[in-house]
Amino acid sequence: MDWFHCNQCFTRSASKYAVSSCGHICCEKCITSQCGVCRSMCSFLPITDEMKPQEKVFFKDPVKLIQTRQEHISQIASFQRTQMERVAIHFKRKAAELEIRVKEVTEHCCQLTDLKRENAVLKKQLSELQRETAELKKPLSQRRVSLPVAVTSP
Ligand SMILES: [Zn+2]
Ligand SMILES: [Zn+2]
Repeated sequence: MDWFHCNQCFTRSASKYAVSSCGHICCEKCITSQCGVCRSMCSFLPITDEMKPQEKVFFKDPVKLIQTRQEHISQIASFQRTQMERVAIHFKRKAAELEIRVKEVTEHCCQLTDLKRENAVLKKQLSELQRETAELKKPLSQRRVSLPVAVTSP
């Protein structure tokens, strides 16, 4: 961090630093109850590894922060893409299953139509046969159909 220095004495080699509530950095020698830079009464936060992440972030390299953020964002994007692919595969498979089902049902319908047609033909044939049977049951004299009479001379 080539920008890091005590805002009052400008040393860069002190062993301890703190940041004030007014936003000034002071080395341990320059810390007083009053900020040495702007003279306001303020509290100091020691600059250490124990700082909270939202405080630490102010001392990190912005370029690295962007890289880290980018990596995080691409992780999020990849996670969501995987989720999307999963659901897309599911619905594609479902659609294929339904297509097969539709084909099966259509075939059944065709078979049914064929059977209905066949049934109609058979019904017609049956009624013809019934009519013929009724005709045959009548006594000869009542028959509509006149039988050829063979005239033979002995
Ligand atoms: Zn100083
Ligand atoms: Zn200050």
